[in-house]
Amino acid sequence: MALIVQKFGGTSVGSIEKIKAVASRVLESHRAGNRMIVVLSAMSGETDRLIGMAHEMQHIPDPRELDALVSTGEQVTVSLFAMAVKAAGGDAVSLLGDQVAIHTDQMHTRARIDSIDAARIQHFLDQGKIVTVAGFQGVTDSGDITTLGRGGSDTTAVALAAALKADACEIFTDVEGVFTTDPGICDKARKIDFISYDEMLELASLGAKVLDIRAVSMAKRFKVPVHVRSTFTHTVGTWVVGEEKIMESMLVSGITYSKKEARITIKKVPDQPGIAAKIFLPISDAGILVDMIIQNAHDGGFTDMTFTVPKDDYARAMEILNKVAKELHAESVTGDQDIAKVSIVGVGMRNYAGIASTMFQIMSKEGINMMMVTTSEIKVSAVIAAKYTELAVRALHDAFALDKDNLPQEED
Ligand code: ASP
Ligand code: MG
Repeated sequence: MALIVQKFGGTSVGSIEKIKAVASRVLESHRAGNRMIVVLSAMSGETDRLIGMAHEMQHIPDPRELDALVSTGEQVTVSLFAMAVKAAGGDAVSLLGDQVAIHTDQMHTRARIDSIDAARIQHFLDQGKIVTVAGFQGVTDSGDITTLGRGGSDTTAVALAAALKADACEIFTDVEGVFTTDPGICDKARKIDFISYDEMLELASLGAKVLDIRAVSMAKRFKVPVHVRSTFTHTVGTWVVGEEKIMESMLVSGITYSKKEARITIKKVPDQPGIAAKIFLPISDAGILVDMIIQNAHDGGFTDMTFTVPKDDYARAMEILNKVAKELHAESVTGDQDIAKVSIVGVGMRNYAGIASTMFQIMSKEGINMMMVTTSEIKVSAVIAAKYTELAVRALHDAFALDKDNLPQEED
């Protein structure tokens, strides 16, 4: 008998009818002989609605009270789901974070899970019940309700799968799996059958939205096989697994893009030890995450620094940097918000040279200028003018033949 954790997102439980449909789908798996734990999100739009109300009440809502409020979204769906299962002739019990209990730290609105008591869930599973657990929430040692940050139900599901040593964690969503790129801009985008945790981490952090990044890191740490699939079809989705489980790695498995960053350059700062710290310390003190950083070679004891920050933080970053630039007697601070970062990701890159240069050739053939380039073991990212994003993604998808089914097939 397999133990399976299934998580359904907000769009899958967005109405009474949808919750009923999820219940009958879960019952199907249960009747096939599996032990089932079901993690649910709030109904789609509900968390936003609750946060909106909180802001009407208080300019900066009290974090403890905000968690108490937003966690109610999931309380609604799990209890309705348990009723739906019972109405369909099955047996289910709902548990909130503190009823499980899912212990977290005290960081309200972005708490981290410290530990999970498996006993109560185990007890109900032994009684043959379907156990449904409210996603996204936990409890502190002092008994306060916490939430795990937006999209946190994925993490709840993976954490439960790890704690109860489940055979698989299935994340049900409104798409069929993880795609080679955004099907919205490239009609040749294809569903990926298998992808490694490391590739998924890169894709998730680079802007692919299917799976929450913290859930992927946790799955990697505890080796939980994750199956991302559609609530509305029975098609097999994408398996996110350890690299050792994938027979043959693709050179490039996915292409992502992000238009959420802006580029900033400080021109002609002294090329001395400590200058980078003077520039980036005030930025990080302001809680601004810097992504790519490039220090240009420069003559005469001076250098240029170019880096990217989230567009949302651009104005604040410019304000800070204008001050820093004055102190350092830099020549100027310039910025560009019309940029996009396009990245190719694949574990196969580790063992092959020339992937970056192939990417550069493709960009040059399309006449696309790259303003910045960074690489890691399994990724090459380039910053380009935002208006070329779609063109770049399609050209790279074609050139690296991501539309071909050259991934290993599942063994029978
Ligand atoms: N309901 C929460 C959110 O909207 C958690 C989740 O859905 O994963 O962010
Ligand atoms: Mg989600």
